[in-house]
Amino acid sequence: MRQLSEADRDAIRLAQDPNFARWLEQITATGGCAHPVHLSGSTTTRDAITGEILHHYDTRDEPAERLSVRCRNRRATVCAPCSRLHAGDTFHLVRAGLLGGKTVPATVRERPRLFVTLTAPSFGFVHRAGDRCRPRRDGGACAHGRPLGCGAVHAPADCLVGQPLCADCYDYPAHALWHAHAGKLWDRFVIGVRRHLASAAGLPQSGFRDHARLSFARVAEYQKRAAVHVHAVVRLDGPTGPDDEPPAWGTADRMADAVRASAQRVVVRTPFSPAVGELALHWGTQVDAHPLCSGGGGPDDQAVAAYVAKYVTKGASETGAGTDHRLTTRDDIDAAPLTDHVRTLMRTCWRLGGLPEYAPLRLRAWAHTLGYRGHILTKSRAYSTTYATLRADRAEHVGHDHVPGTVAEAGWRYVGSGHTPGAALIASGIAEDLARNRELAREEFRGAGGDAV
Ligand SMILES: [Zn+2]
Ligand SMILES: [Zn+2]
Ligand SMILES: [Zn+2]
Repeated sequence: MRQLSEADRDAIRLAQDPNFARWLEQITATGGCAHPVHLSGSTTTRDAITGEILHHYDTRDEPAERLSVRCRNRRATVCAPCSRLHAGDTFHLVRAGLLGGKTVPATVRERPRLFVTLTAPSFGFVHRAGDRCRPRRDGGACAHGRPLGCGAVHAPADCLVGQPLCADCYDYPAHALWHAHAGKLWDRFVIGVRRHLASAAGLPQSGFRDHARLSFARVAEYQKRAAVHVHAVVRLDGPTGPDDEPPAWGTADRMADAVRASAQRVVVRTPFSPAVGELALHWGTQVDAHPLCSGGGGPDDQAVAAYVAKYVTKGASETGAGTDHRLTTRDDIDAAPLTDHVRTLMRTCWRLGGLPEYAPLRLRAWAHTLGYRGHILTKSRAYSTTYATLRADRAEHVGHDHVPGTVAEAGWRYVGSGHTPGAALIASGIAEDLARNRELAREEFRGAGGDAV
């Protein structure tokens, strides 16, 4: 026994427990979640009139008198099984907004729909992969004596890619403040799209709402230079939403024009700061607005949904542009295993976050994501179904659905989280098995002529 690791010995202890089979069921129900949440409590369902108990569930009958539920973390580095589930839910959510399904009518596939990419502007020259990096015939040096060009050809994995040619020339405050205002830039951009569509149709700008409704789902992606890109699916419906026909003037081409015009014109001004001044923030010049073929079901729609889903499991840390956890002191920045470029961005967030004029931006709380606040995926209300609906479809909740004519009493409390070393070993084995089964099912589905999902 001395040769066995602590985790192995713990796993053997668990397997010898008389409640092991039920415990294994619980862990399997969480998909092998790496950090399950343990709950204690009960649910009682009674007949509303007679008071007769129809169903009773109590964790007192469970192993360790508790029920384990998923952590539901979307990050692959935190919990692989839950992040896979979240990516799957996102795929279905985005796909339903393009093709219908779940709670969305199939007619959405006939609506004008675009796949839009908006970029951050340049904050200074960075090394690029692919062709020659930044060739300059006349050479030249910046005020800090560093070359203005780079004649090298960098492989994509080259650690120089995304790093500035001169860190002293690079505008770190603008980069951090742009991230901090990216949500506002998006909101203004959407307002601008509505306005451009309204005026193209000869409507007063305030009249848009009476004729059409713009819905979207967007996802943020960190690039090599540690700046966020935004990818979005945008759809035009009639005024009441997905069930409603859009007006005849609402074509995909007109939408694409409105997207480009709005992205070019949106400006957000930062609050004045004695240290930084007042910045006028814009989107980058690289804007893409790609109409998706109507009728749906084409490779476009599937690919777009899969593309968006892929990004929701990747935060700042997976792309090397930040960390999983909030920073509590400035020293955390020096300790994080990151490039100098990302560390400088974090220090900039920390420094600007200490200035009263930027207090509402909470730059220190968001230094770990380089000032970018908010969710990786954001959607407008009418775009598609919700994560909650998708979870309810899986019946992934504690207790039971409400049945008319019954009353339910429930009381739950948090009693802990995480696994012992042996439980973690077993859970990761279950997660691997489930992933392998899913992969096999997918291959069989493809073999049978199904769409690759
Ligand atoms: Zn989990
Ligand atoms: Zn270079
Ligand atoms: Zn310089």
